[in-house]
Amino acid sequence: MDKIFYNGVIKTVDDAYPIVSAVCVKNGIVMHVGSDEEMLKYKTEKTELIDLKGKFMMPGFIDSHMHMILTYYQKLQLDLGGCKTKKDVLAALKAEAERIRREGHEGEWVKGVNFNQDYWADEKKIPTRLELDEATGDVPCMILRCCGHTASHNTKALDIMGVMKEKEGETSLNMLFLEDGTPQGQLFEGDAEMSSQFVAVPSVEEYVEWIKEETANCAKLGLVGIHSDDLNMVAPGRDVENVMAAFKVAAETGQMSIKVYEQCRIEEADKLKAFIEKYPRGTAFGTRFVTNAIKEMGDGSLGAHSAVLRGSYANDPAAKGVKVHPDEEMNELIQIAHSAGYPVAVHCIGDGAVEQVLNAMELAQYNDPKPDIRHGIVHCQIMGTDQVVRMQKNNVLAYVQPVFCRADAGIVDDCVGPELAKQSYDWRRMVDLGVHASGGSDCPVEPCDPIPNIYYAVTRDDSKGGSWYPENAVTMEEAIRMFTIEGAYAGYAEATRGSITVGKYADFVVLSQDLTKIDPKDILNTKILMTVVEGETVYEA
Ligand SMILES: [Zn+2]
Repeated sequence: MDKIFYNGVIKTVDDAYPIVSAVCVKNGIVMHVGSDEEMLKYKTEKTELIDLKGKFMMPGFIDSHMHMILTYYQKLQLDLGGCKTKKDVLAALKAEAERIRREGHEGEWVKGVNFNQDYWADEKKIPTRLELDEATGDVPCMILRCCGHTASHNTKALDIMGVMKEKEGETSLNMLFLEDGTPQGQLFEGDAEMSSQFVAVPSVEEYVEWIKEETANCAKLGLVGIHSDDLNMVAPGRDVENVMAAFKVAAETGQMSIKVYEQCRIEEADKLKAFIEKYPRGTAFGTRFVTNAIKEMGDGSLGAHSAVLRGSYANDPAAKGVKVHPDEEMNELIQIAHSAGYPVAVHCIGDGAVEQVLNAMELAQYNDPKPDIRHGIVHCQIMGTDQVVRMQKNNVLAYVQPVFCRADAGIVDDCVGPELAKQSYDWRRMVDLGVHASGGSDCPVEPCDPIPNIYYAVTRDDSKGGSWYPENAVTMEEAIRMFTIEGAYAGYAEATRGSITVGKYADFVVLSQDLTKIDPKDILNTKILMTVVEGETVYEA
């Protein structure tokens, strides 16, 4: 035996033997599980013994939706997430523009990310072109909201992008105008990322470095696997080949600490067909990278009122949300993926987007029945109970982010009214109906730390000392499944990952306390002591 983990409280997430104290591992695979006495019989001279000292071990966490490449890329940019006021934001942008001028970086942009004006103490309004001009002058400047669905720009940036010529009522861009008819600076949805057409595509070597660093960061948080949406994120339309080549190098040369199930973001029919031809579903590089699903976008975000609702926004009746693809286009994209045996994972925040996507999935199934395909909806936030029922009927997976409670508990009721709010973020209903619900962070929207995510899944803490529709919470047992076996299921990997089961990969996490025994309010104090992937210790505190 290569390794024996013993003297632990080991929760296996396998009903055949729920709690054991020891596990034997050989060649990265779980060979036996049981008591210390039974397992230590397999010890040979070469066996490494790992004394868990009574600590709690369980299957390593799997995050079912995040953006690993974007997470790294954003660290290279100015993080506005900590700014408490609009004034702070403008001061930070001014300092960055001064740095760029001082260092003489011709053509460099001020790129600020991760702000959320809802949290500002002074004026809760995104700065306009004119306000950004005052702070940054002739250095091009773009600031992207934390949701990624809207960005504001200064005049220089709009000039470079060719947007200053746009006219109200004539433009095909999704943008705002000032009263004098000139661009206001703010662009939405696909157009919010327009400035990315002017950045250089990172090289394969750079991406390998990012992947190495980010997978190691994930391991520190107890993650053994992530579903990550990385294509067309940094330089849309130009970066797919470099990202795929980098994953191949990183996975095949042992530079990935954890496994990545790629949610391949391709949003044009021709490009999607070509991608699928080159990388069919299940294309694997070593054991730590696989093309798992096609990622599409359904709508925007709740905070920006660009999520598509079946009804209207209670606090903004003029807003309707923004469908990223008209129905025919969504039907076509999903049909292409579906008929090639690729499941889709589609971003839907509003019930209107959920409706569009469920219709498209049902149509694809009608045209070309594939009962075993695992299509899914990412986020599943504003939803009617009728739609949860429909997901169950069609075996559509839910990729949910319980940690979103932290930001959303305060805005959902205002946006959609209590009647719909209480049917929304309803993980309890999903689990009860047997919808496969896996948990994720949408990092960099929220940190990819499973511990706060589990905390919100169980408590639905409303940040005001109460609980937000506590009847929609799940139990700790269910939350653990959401971040282990259900993440594996979403990756078609439940036979090889997601529980501590004989014959599966030895993917473990050792925690400072037993999640199943503590008071829920103590969950946030849990520390990661060790992360093991395929029998290899990839992190140790
Ligand atoms: Zn996302």
